[in-house]
Amino acid sequence: MGKKILIVGGVAGGASCAARMRRLDETAEIIMFEKGNYISFANCGLPYYIGDTIKDRENLIIQTPEKFKERFNVDVRTNSEVTSINPADKTITIRAGESDYTERYDALVLSPGTSPIRPPLRGIDSPIVFTLRNIPDTDHIRAHVDSKKARRAVVIGGGFIGLEMAESLRHRGLEVTLVEMLDQVFTPADKELASVLHQHLIMNGVRLVLGDGVKEIAPAEDASAEVVLTSGKRIQTEMVIVSIGVKPDTDFVKKSGIAVGDRGTIIVDEHMRTDKPDVYAVGDAVETVDFVSGKKVHVPLAGPANRQGRIAADNMAGIDSVYKNTQGTAICKIFDLTAAVTGINEKDAKRWGIPFLKSYTHGTSHAGYYPGAYPLSIKILFDPKGGKLLGAQVIGKEGVDKRIDVFATALRHGLTVYDLAELELAYAPPYGSAKDPVNIAGFVAQNILESRMPVFYAEDVVSIDSSLQQLLDVRTATEHEQGAIDNSLCIPVDELRMRMNELDKEKEIMIYCQVGLRGYLAARMLMQQGFRVKNLSGGYKTYTNSRGSV
Ligand code: FAD
Repeated sequence: MGKKILIVGGVAGGASCAARMRRLDETAEIIMFEKGNYISFANCGLPYYIGDTIKDRENLIIQTPEKFKERFNVDVRTNSEVTSINPADKTITIRAGESDYTERYDALVLSPGTSPIRPPLRGIDSPIVFTLRNIPDTDHIRAHVDSKKARRAVVIGGGFIGLEMAESLRHRGLEVTLVEMLDQVFTPADKELASVLHQHLIMNGVRLVLGDGVKEIAPAEDASAEVVLTSGKRIQTEMVIVSIGVKPDTDFVKKSGIAVGDRGTIIVDEHMRTDKPDVYAVGDAVETVDFVSGKKVHVPLAGPANRQGRIAADNMAGIDSVYKNTQGTAICKIFDLTAAVTGINEKDAKRWGIPFLKSYTHGTSHAGYYPGAYPLSIKILFDPKGGKLLGAQVIGKEGVDKRIDVFATALRHGLTVYDLAELELAYAPPYGSAKDPVNIAGFVAQNILESRMPVFYAEDVVSIDSSLQQLLDVRTATEHEQGAIDNSLCIPVDELRMRMNELDKEKEIMIYCQVGLRGYLAARMLMQQGFRVKNLSGGYKTYTNSRGSV
């Protein structure tokens, strides 16, 4: 018999690690402990089963202990909670039912994941309040919906799980209110992009409450409850989903003396090793390093968990495998829209003091003349020196996944906005454009970087000084009439050459159009005639999104 490897947690990180370990070493004795009833289930699919998009519950269960044993020769012990670790004598204690026992290890891997945060609110323990982490949680929520006891639901928290649950419960015909304490949902994106999601949620019948927290959940006698918000608002409901974030499930790790960070995340090195010999940790429970900023972060996502599981196994098997940090690439479906991010956003850049430039571009998912093209909005952040890509956010109906993955790959390999402009991406009218939205983002950023197109941003509009600057709308008169920035003069771009004399050369001309393209043309025209100009990045569309109120 080879090394004895014990793994705590039997889902993403744990199961990946076990399977890789077996592929690398047929002689190892591998035991995987899982405190729940199921291993290797599709956490990410749970909201879609509740929403009835995934019809068959069996599809959520990717592996059973029996199949895992058969294929990988791993001894899987479910309903077995690891309660303590003794790194000095290399043993762990396991509680299975009423009895405790110990096991010795040569190497130990911790992948206990996170559990949903349940804030200490009055009424939080009511039976109509749910959180979603695993199959039993899913069964409870689905049973509550199936039993038709719930006509209305309040979802607390507008992150990935909250958004997916809001959509799923709408699919099931419930009236849904989504309450978010911040002024935006989907915080990995910046607000001016997320505000598109706000409108879309409302259009799909979700009552959206932003900037308000939940104070208490007051149960009523008829199995309903009243959710009381800090503003004093009261919402009647028959079910509440709490999805305000997660915390590492690491109490047993902390008390075993293994180093954990402030948030309870296990501290690991680049080989996924903890501070104790032969103890590794992976997945949602570990602290990782942000790929762009180098800051310590907690990014609970399935991709990193799976990769880290594999890396821990490599290292246990003597392969020098290194985890090269997390860039937070993530994607979320919100009814007909998709929102995706990679790298840092503007909030992160400001918080961490990272210098950046940004650009907004609005294109279409594929060639506009081919049926079914939808708008696609992109925001990128890049280094003012050299244009290295720092982050990207993409929102649209189609083609978001492909663009974000191009940006994610570019960012991972240190590409610049010049490289984005040069990427040769697949094109035929049903799929893209000869100048793909990724190329366009590169072109625009390049123009900003090289001052060929000086820009201003939506947030600068309030501080425009009409004694020094002149706002110029270069859209058509009809577009201008339908909505424009206050105090702007309208000269359509196609008339600009003839009507330049209407502009005051002493003033800086603050140009805008709908998405930035006509503004760019106007800017180039005016700059070559000696005007000082700036073009509104992302145009009127980004301006209205940034002001988006609910
Ligand atoms: P987990 O997969 O949570 O596994 C940890 C396991 O350890 C659990 O089963 C737990 O019971 C067990 N455990 C904990 N403590 C002990 C103990 N002391 N003893 C024994 N067993 C223990 N990520 C994405 O990237 N994309 C998505 O679309 C996405 N959607 C999601 C949707 C939902 C509803 C949820 C809940 C998560 C979603 N995630 C998504 C996150 C993703 O599932 C996690 O990042 C990933 O599962 C983390 O893997 P892990 O191994 O660290 O933890």
